[in-house]
Amino acid sequence: MRFDHRTLPQRVRFGTGGAADALAAEVEERGARAVMMIAAPSELALAEGIASRIDTALWWSDVAPHVPIAHAERAREAAAAAGIDLIVSVGGGSTTGLAKAVALTSGVPIVAVPTTYAGSEATNVWGLTTDARKTTGVDDAVLPAVVVYDSELTLSLPVELSVASGLNAIAHCIDSMWAPSSDPLNRALAEEGVREVAGALPVIVSSPENVTARERMQYGAYVSAVAFASAGSGLHHKICHVLGGAYDLPHAQTHSAVLPQVLAFNTVFAPEGSERIARALGAPSAVEGLERLYASLPVVRALSEVGYSAESIPESASLILPLVPPSNPRRVDEAALEGILRAALEGRAIA
Ligand code: NAD
Repeated sequence: MRFDHRTLPQRVRFGTGGAADALAAEVEERGARAVMMIAAPSELALAEGIASRIDTALWWSDVAPHVPIAHAERAREAAAAAGIDLIVSVGGGSTTGLAKAVALTSGVPIVAVPTTYAGSEATNVWGLTTDARKTTGVDDAVLPAVVVYDSELTLSLPVELSVASGLNAIAHCIDSMWAPSSDPLNRALAEEGVREVAGALPVIVSSPENVTARERMQYGAYVSAVAFASAGSGLHHKICHVLGGAYDLPHAQTHSAVLPQVLAFNTVFAPEGSERIARALGAPSAVEGLERLYASLPVVRALSEVGYSAESIPESASLILPLVPPSNPRRVDEAALEGILRAALEGRAIA
């Protein structure tokens, strides 16, 4: 066994109903005097509830998906003008992303209070969109110093968004099994992430108000993102990144259609990772386990349902190929990518 693993430094305060206390304690311990609260309009009520016991210097709700650069610059200017010394983000990945954009240039620490299962709070990855092109980068300045998890904040997340966000977490885990920096530590976390998220998701679909399932989802989404932050981006995420960018396909549905295909493609060539996924799903094989999970969820299986068409397959394959990580356990060429894309288009198992 030989690996070079880095664990990112972060405090996690986890507890249902405890966000307001955790935030107040964090502000006091840090001696923060000028807090910037960031929350999108639909997250504002949640944010106001948990900020009730702190003084806030600046409220900011000018949040947009994928952090357009103009939004980042407006938030940075307002933060500088208010002399903020702590950023608190309350919301999904878009809100955390804006907080990261401010931290990137100011170095001000973030307390992240997630309300979805996207997992951005566990990573040192930032993303900014300029002229419809998304750029990402890695910088420890954007890793939230503290994450506060309170499952009550996720009860209002609609089932459809919960499923999309949860499958995103499972995709983090599955890709961690063969990503460039995959190692036994992040694979162990990824296995735990699959177990928790797959266990909780069907319960949330049938009873969205189930706090225990919501807690399991938050815990599972966190370990999934920690695994992914450490392992890096594998074949699945490279494919989805290209499809989302080049054809403007919706993020969540693209992930859910592509994931079973990448798993089926790699599974025999990644026996340890596949065994972990199968064990976490309580199934005889990883592929069968994911099939069973999908059967229990409202989920998009075919890219044809979201506007992708067969004519785009050759171009997509040629765009994806240069991005395929050399770590992928099975050799990937254009024909292989075309096979994966065709199966994802039709939503059927690949041969
Ligand atoms: P999102 O933040 O865009 O949220 C989706 C919608 O749900 C928004 O309208 C939001 O206001 C609403 N919402 C959030 N929490 C809610 C709640 N509890 N109740 C009701 N509505 C709620 O979506 P997301 O999936 O959380 O994040 C996606 C973004 O995060 C993408 O831009 C993605 O690239 C990014 N991301 C980044 C990383 C990273 O490491 N940098 C990791 C994962 C995702």
